Amino acid sequence: MRVFLLIVCAAALSCGPTPPAPVRVMAIVPVETRGYEPREVQLQTIGNITTLKGSVAELIGVARVTLDPNDPIQRGGIENLTDDQRYEVLLKDKGADVRGNYLDKAGVLWPADFHTWNMVTTYWNFENAWLYFQDLLASQTPAQTPDELNKMRVLYWPELKINDTLVTDNALYMSFVKSFAITPFQNEKTVPLAMNLGVIGHEVAHKVWSKRVFNDEGIHPTLRPSTGWSGEPFNLLRSLDEGLADFHGYGVTCRSLAGCTPDLLSVSIADQTYAKQRDVSRPDACLDEGLRQALKSFSADQWIRARELYLYGNLWAVSLYQAGSKTGGIGKVKSLQVALLAAYNDDRSQSPGLNQLVNRNLNNQMAFTPEAVAEAIASHIADVDLRRAFCSEAMDRLQLQCLRPDCTDKMPSCPGTTRRGTTCKVLPPLP
Ligand SMILES: [Zn+2]
Repeated sequence: MRVFLLIVCAAALSCGPTPPAPVRVMAIVPVETRGYEPREVQLQTIGNITTLKGSVAELIGVARVTLDPNDPIQRGGIENLTDDQRYEVLLKDKGADVRGNYLDKAGVLWPADFHTWNMVTTYWNFENAWLYFQDLLASQTPAQTPDELNKMRVLYWPELKINDTLVTDNALYMSFVKSFAITPFQNEKTVPLAMNLGVIGHEVAHKVWSKRVFNDEGIHPTLRPSTGWSGEPFNLLRSLDEGLADFHGYGVTCRSLAGCTPDLLSVSIADQTYAKQRDVSRPDACLDEGLRQALKSFSADQWIRARELYLYGNLWAVSLYQAGSKTGGIGKVKSLQVALLAAYNDDRSQSPGLNQLVNRNLNNQMAFTPEAVAEAIASHIADVDLRRAFCSEAMDRLQLQCLRPDCTDKMPSCPGTTRRGTTCKVLPPLP
């Protein structure tokens, strides 16, 4: 018996000491053909390859999360609990270490089973999202670090129940318990969302937004049922979080062998029409009358369940992407990613950031308009050509309401030479 165990341990790394980072390991990653294939990667930040824990992410297995308004301890509304209390109440099982199994082939670790492939790939995705934000934050003045992305808690394959529905085939950031979830997947035809690099980039962007715009509050005051914001300001706020997450998710894909992939979803979902509508490079993205009507009239509850949430967010992502692309390509898009992050939170300069625009107007939601948001972003774009291009795209695609042709009445940061773009037809004024 003893001999048998020794042989098992010699073949599988899980019994041995964990090698120091970087660790050479196989993962399923986007490749040159834009498909996903097993390739050797290096994990730069992993501490323990067996339990999949490192400085940027920590995977936790077999957790059980239940959101249930009929649960006696949730009945008072989870928004009335502190972040720590919510974690205690909603995580019915806090989970345990995962365990990866590998075979060592000439210094490269090969996952030995299905879950180990998924877990290594998940860690690699989180590491790349971290590297993306680290790069953008290092480019800020003064330079910053992505402190909110240290040891991100990732619930791997949890039993996640939301109002009695078991969540599968998804990847989520749950700000209310400050945890990510990589839920079980069953759809074998496509790349699971959890393995999609851009999707993980999108989820990590939610955490960055939550920290920098919402002051790391698990349920920000604007989002509380009954006492929070409602109507257009609420809908705009939620859509920005989603659309800008797509814009950053796209940015994270640029780190892969496949190169920048503005169409994040088409490899992962069956509905190709919808996937194309979420493409951040979509040249024909315009606010139309139906979307405008929904933005203005949907209740908070309707909006968060509607596709319009993402479609309106997409107009913001496309305005940024197209401004960069038309001004000079990928390098300019990166300048916009840096500027956008600066615009999330700025209490030092004369130009308030989105955090300030939201938190100084908690009781004055009508001040949170698309024009005010566009100004907060524009005022953080240093390059004048790029700022003009962003103003022009946003005026056009989002139908910003300005009295002057250069929009400087509503957006004083726009250069006087700005003119509204010509992609979209001007909508008639609302009755
Ligand atoms: Zn999202």
